[in-house]
Amino acid sequence: MLYRTMGRTGVSVSALGFGCMRFLNRRGRPTWGPRFDTGAAISLLMAARDAGVNYFDTAYNYMGGKSESVVGEFLRAAGSRKGLHIATKLPVWLARRRTSFERLFSVQLSRLGVEHVDFYLLHALNESSFARVCDLGVLEFLDSLKKDGRISFAGFSFHDKPAAFAPIVDAYGWDFCQIQYNIVDENEQAGRTGLEYAAGKGLGVVVMEPLRGGDLTGGLPESVETAWKRAGRARSAAGWCLSWVLDQPGVSTVLSGMNTRVQLDENAGVASAVLPGTLTASALKAVGGVQRAYRSLHGVGCTKCGYCMPCPAGVSIPRIFMIYNEACMFPGSGIPGMDYNSSLKPEARADRCTGCGLCESRCPQRLPVREKLREASRILTGGSGN
Ligand code: SF4
Ligand code: SF4
Repeated sequence: MLYRTMGRTGVSVSALGFGCMRFLNRRGRPTWGPRFDTGAAISLLMAARDAGVNYFDTAYNYMGGKSESVVGEFLRAAGSRKGLHIATKLPVWLARRRTSFERLFSVQLSRLGVEHVDFYLLHALNESSFARVCDLGVLEFLDSLKKDGRISFAGFSFHDKPAAFAPIVDAYGWDFCQIQYNIVDENEQAGRTGLEYAAGKGLGVVVMEPLRGGDLTGGLPESVETAWKRAGRARSAAGWCLSWVLDQPGVSTVLSGMNTRVQLDENAGVASAVLPGTLTASALKAVGGVQRAYRSLHGVGCTKCGYCMPCPAGVSIPRIFMIYNEACMFPGSGIPGMDYNSSLKPEARADRCTGCGLCESRCPQRLPVREKLREASRILTGGSGN
């Protein structure tokens, strides 16, 4: 296993981190829910430790609220916590008042069976959730946790538009951050620009979703399969995706939500081999071909410039097109449909379009927005069109 320094913390973390958000159920199928095979999960965590993994990432809500407890069991089974780094996250969406932070943190300590957390993150920040918890005093709360030694380092995980990232980085003396980053999200969310910005400011950068929850490794569209073949057989698609992330110098550790020994062994092998800046030009070119293959699957060439907004009917045009493009790239995944239904209010969905045409007159790409919204609605609602 190779190790990297986690930004200004100076802590040496394994290039591969363990994301404890998905384990196998008793029938051997991956699950995100609370009914999983605890014994198998602990065995795998022990095997990861034995392979040199020293960064274990959990959260209040993972595995239906059971992930922190199983990490606690793992720590007890390991006998010693020495050299292991535990990261967990404050579910900011559950905080309604200032006292909520302390209450939630106490629950987390008790689930983990510890008195101290190494890396503590505000979970899934976006512009508005960050503003809300700042008003509730969350930054003062983090200060107090660091001061009394209940956490070593404070960070945040991020899911929002690229422009929201730097202001959050600049708003506090963070030690580290966690971002979604992979070959198809190079310019989404924090993106490469955000990764380099945070690393340049001295933050450790933890990468999550390097394989997009497995979407980048299984059931691949033919054009993507063909593009991967050009990368060569030295590594699988998963191996190449991890290598591409690990090649980037700002990355401190890459989390993988492994649930089998085979995955652990393959990922640990990659994390033991790839130093920053060592992918060859031909490997990078081949990965570029895969990125282009994914982009060519997009259903609509929306650049998310936002010039079409606001829509007088309230339709969230760029956001819908972003989810629609995800559905086109990953046709076997149920996530875009779920995202459409859960993250967009009914009044912002595609079926609210009145057909006025204002957006098309503003769109610099001259996209047939109305037609594409109808298509998106049909695909994302399973053909019902609403
Ligand atoms: S055509 Fe539809 S989406 Fe475009 S501005 Fe009019 S109502 Fe909004
Ligand atoms: S103006 Fe066109 S390209 Fe820009 S966000 Fe709207 S639909 Fe997309």
